[in-house]
Amino acid sequence: MSDSTIENPLLRSQAYIGGEWVGDSSSNQKRVSTGRVSILNPATGALVAEVSDLGREDLLRAIQCAHQAFAPWRRLVAGQRAVLLRAWYDELIQNVELLAEIITLEQGKPITESIAEVRYAASFIEWFAEEAKRLYGEIVPPHLPDKRVLVTRQPVGVVATITPWNFPAAMIARKVAPALAAGCTVVAKPAPQTPLTALAMAVLAERAGIPAGVFNVVPTTDSEMAGEVLTGDVRVSKISFTGSTAVGKKLMQACAGNLKRLSLELGGNAPFLVFDDANLDEAVKGAVASKYRNAGQTCVCANRFLVHRSVAESFASKLAIEVRSLRVGNGMMRGVDQGPLINEAAVRKVESHIQDAISKGAQLVCGGNRHSLGGTYFSPTVLSHVDRTMLIAHEETFGPVAPIMTFENEAEAIELANDTRAGLAAYFYTQSYERFWRVSEALDYGIVGHNTGLISTEIAPFGGMKESGMGREGSRHGILDYTELKYICSQI
Ligand code: NAP
Repeated sequence: MSDSTIENPLLRSQAYIGGEWVGDSSSNQKRVSTGRVSILNPATGALVAEVSDLGREDLLRAIQCAHQAFAPWRRLVAGQRAVLLRAWYDELIQNVELLAEIITLEQGKPITESIAEVRYAASFIEWFAEEAKRLYGEIVPPHLPDKRVLVTRQPVGVVATITPWNFPAAMIARKVAPALAAGCTVVAKPAPQTPLTALAMAVLAERAGIPAGVFNVVPTTDSEMAGEVLTGDVRVSKISFTGSTAVGKKLMQACAGNLKRLSLELGGNAPFLVFDDANLDEAVKGAVASKYRNAGQTCVCANRFLVHRSVAESFASKLAIEVRSLRVGNGMMRGVDQGPLINEAAVRKVESHIQDAISKGAQLVCGGNRHSLGGTYFSPTVLSHVDRTMLIAHEETFGPVAPIMTFENEAEAIELANDTRAGLAAYFYTQSYERFWRVSEALDYGIVGHNTGLISTEIAPFGGMKESGMGREGSRHGILDYTELKYICSQI
C-alpha cells in the first residue's frame, strides 16, 4: 500500500550532504553506499517514501563537508549568520502547512499539533538568529598594570545532532539553530522513523541560502554505526543528543574516549501534583494538555498524577469526562485530538504498564485497551488507585495513560514527586501563594509548571536535572553550549 496521493514539494528521499542531494541511483546524483528504507504512515501503514539509508562512508563524507564548511561559516560576522537564519525561519513560516503535513504523515500526530510544532521549531530559529548578535565577551579588570584581559566565546566546531521521532522538526531546530548562530556547522542524524521532516527542513535551509556543508542531514537506520562514527571522529567537536537516558549514557561513555563535548536532553517521569486548594477544573484542563498531547509521547508529558486524597475522586471523574471526549483518529483529519502511537512496540509498552498496574490493584476509570480503529491506535486511559509498587510509577509510559496516585500532605507529595532519577519537568496546581514558593523550590526538576500544563517556549531554558540530562536548550543560555570560552591575556 502506498500514499500515492502525496504531492508535497518539500518531500525528499535523498540525503543532504555538502549542499547536494545524494543517494538517488537512478539519476546523475552522487551514489550513497547503502540502500533505502521505507517510511510508513503510522495512521494507515501506507508507504510515505523510500529514503536513502546511509552507511559509514556517507557519514564520514558528511563530517568532512561540515569540517570544510566550518572555517568560512565561523568567519562570517554574526549579523550575516543572523540574516541567513532569519531567512530559514521565514521559509518555515511560509511553508507551515506543507512541513506540518510531512510531520503528520510520518509521525502520526494531529495536523493541528504538527502546525504548532512547526511554529515552535521556527521560533528557535528566529530566537537564535537574534541571539547570534548578542554572543558577548568580557573585558576583565586586569590583575597587573601592564596586562589586559579579554574573554571571548568561539564556536566549538562541527556539531553532530542525534534526535528522536516525537518532535521531528522541533528537536532539530532547538539544536541546529543555536549551533549555526554560534558559528558551528552541523551533521544531523534524524530518527529513522522521521527523516522526511529533517530533509524538508534542509530543503528550506537550502532555499534560505545557508551555504553548502553548513547543515547536513544523514538518515540512517544503523544507529549503532552512526553513534560510533560521530562520537569517534575527532573532527566532530560536540554531540547534541535528545532521546532516552539509556542511549544518552552510552553516548557519554563513547564521548569519553576523546573528551568530546556533549549535551543531553533525556527521558522524563513528570509528576503532576494537584493540591486540595487547586482549581480542579483548571487542573483537569492542564492535565489533558500535558498528558494527551502527541498521544502522550513527549518527554515532558505528565507521567504520574499525584492528587490530594480529599479531591482525588472528584479529579478522576472530571478528568475521565474530558478524556472520554478526546477524538482518536488519523491525524490528517481535522478535529482529531489523538493520533496513533509511533509503532507496535510503543503500544506493547503501554499495555504492559496498564496490565502491571491492574494486577497490583489499580482501577480502570476509562480506556485501557487498543482502540477499535486497530493498528497502533490506543484509547485514552485513566487509572486510579495507583501506587509506587507499580511499573507505571517509575518508568516513562510514553503513551496516553494518566495514572492517579494520592497523597495526604505536602511533604508526602514532594517526596513522591522527587522519588525518581528523572528530573525534567514537573507540574503543580495550587492557589496558595506560600505553597507556590515552597513547592516550586522543593521540586528537583529543571522545568516547573505552576497552574499550567504547557511549559515549552523558546524564551526559557529547557532541560533536566539528575538523569534527565545535561545542558539547556532555548533561551539566552541555549547558545552557550555551542561555544568555548577563550581568555586572552595581553601584555602592553
Ligand atoms: P532513543 O531510543 O534514545 O533514540 C533517540 C535517537 O537516538 C534515535 O535517532 C535513535 O535511532 C538514536 N540512537 C539509538 N541508539 C543510538 C546509538 N547507540 N548511537 C547513536 N544514536 C542512537 O529514544 P526514543 O525512544 O526514540 O525517543 C524517546 C525518548 O526521548 C524518551 O525517553 C523521551 O523522554 C526522550 N525525549 C527527551 C526530550 C528532551 O528534551 N529531554 C525530548 C524528546 C524526547 P534508532 O531509533 O535507530 O535507535
